[in-house]
Amino acid sequence: MPIKISKETADEQIRQKVKEISGEDFQKCYQCGTCSGSCPMADQITVLPRRVMALLQLGRKEALEEANTHWVCASCHMCVVRCPRGIDIAKVMESLRQLTLRKNEDIINPSEISKEDTAKLPQVAMVSGFRKLTS
Ligand code: SF4
Ligand code: SF4
Repeated sequence: MPIKISKETADEQIRQKVKEISGEDFQKCYQCGTCSGSCPMADQITVLPRRVMALLQLGRKEALEEANTHWVCASCHMCVVRCPRGIDIAKVMESLRQLTLRKNEDIINPSEISKEDTAKLPQVAMVSGFRKLTS
């Protein structure tokens, strides 16, 4: 029988795990919004990077897991070079991806990609997508 942990414990755990995996101190974020204003994927993501930082500071596990931000993030590092607090936001996004992938949960199933799409998609993009979205 799985051990049930309280919501408070789960919320604290996500803060600790993201800190541990990313090595970044998201508590330094002072919510200036430069990352959100710099993000080329802003119109595709459900929660802007600034808000992801706020949710982490508050330890809002469910809201973080529901956001598509870390899956859509292109790791372009635009936010990283512009953050006045020197936070590597791309590393934070990677750590949020790792929290799912380390449970052996895949976000895409390569065998479900049609032959037509496989023929159209650049091979480099496919390999990079599999690295990011499969465990
Ligand atoms: S740019 Fe840096 S300090 Fe500003 S909101 Fe984003 S993470 Fe926080
Ligand atoms: S690294 Fe990710 S979150 Fe940051 S600007 Fe690029 S796409 Fe947006």
